[in-house]
Amino acid sequence: MNILDGKVIGREHRRQSAMRAEIYQQSTGLQVHLALLLVGDDAASQVYVRNKAKACEEAGIRSTIVRLSATASEDDVVNMVEQWNTDASVHGILVQLPLPRHINEERVILTIDPRKDVDGFHPVNVGRMMIGASCFIPCTPAGILELLRVGNVTTSGAHAVVIGRSNIVGKPIAALLAQKRPQGNATVTQCHTGTRNLHDYTRQADILVCAVGVANLITADHVKEGVVVIDVGMNRLTLDDGSSKLCGDVDFASVSPKASLITPVPGGVGPMTIAMLLSNTVDAAERMIA
Ligand code: NAD
Repeated sequence: MNILDGKVIGREHRRQSAMRAEIYQQSTGLQVHLALLLVGDDAASQVYVRNKAKACEEAGIRSTIVRLSATASEDDVVNMVEQWNTDASVHGILVQLPLPRHINEERVILTIDPRKDVDGFHPVNVGRMMIGASCFIPCTPAGILELLRVGNVTTSGAHAVVIGRSNIVGKPIAALLAQKRPQGNATVTQCHTGTRNLHDYTRQADILVCAVGVANLITADHVKEGVVVIDVGMNRLTLDDGSSKLCGDVDFASVSPKASLITPVPGGVGPMTIAMLLSNTVDAAERMIA
């Protein structure tokens, strides 16, 4: 079977975080605690925040959700974050993005104490990640590394092609795969909207990471035999009967027969992202007593 099953791998990872959270509680008397801030009423964000809080609960991690209205000011958001920064009972802070347009995301991210920045979006964590220092790795790239580790994928010396250059997926995963570290030491090519003849690059990939947001962009023609495919895309397709279906950036039906390993959508990278959020939160708590 060539499926890299994020549901199974993520479940095991969450179980380990739950064990670590319990040990932390026994040794400190404190419960690991993640604070989540949701601003506005974006339907997808509401689902994401609810799922993150539910995963925390299942792992014995306390979660607090604060919901602010879409008309909340930038100062309201910043004040909430600052309150959590100084609250010793809060170990991790997550501000669900995107924020309403009138709020400057950069200012909000800069407000988060880097030691509690479990999403790994603060420039201090981004910078530390780039130099290979201890940091919070953003959850989706961290989940991809864990999939490659559990899948026994040899990254060292491999040609990894990353499509996408977002701050949350494309840029960090390209940097991490190139670093001299476990699940690294690859030769990395990064493709994006400025890339001409995308298939010229994707066909050379031993490992192909797609973080694009275009349904079924990658077909059998784009890949070589034996490729490892990590499909980050989460695209909602409307079917002829009016119903909708979640699909990735990769045309699974045509690509999977050529792939040595492939992540499905749903059930690939998505569950890993939540699993890594939990482990980053436990890491944050453990580092505070270290
Ligand atoms: P984004 O929208 O910020 O960026 C997309 C990137 O793809 C851009 O850098 C752009 O240059 C590149 N791109 C777009 N069209 C292209 C094309 N035709 N050819 C080559 N490059 C192209 O992306 P993001 O926030 O990284 O998200 C990408 C996808 O991953 C989305 O579908 C998103 O929903 C999904 N996502 C999933 C998870 C998860 O946990 N599974 C997490 C984050 C994002």
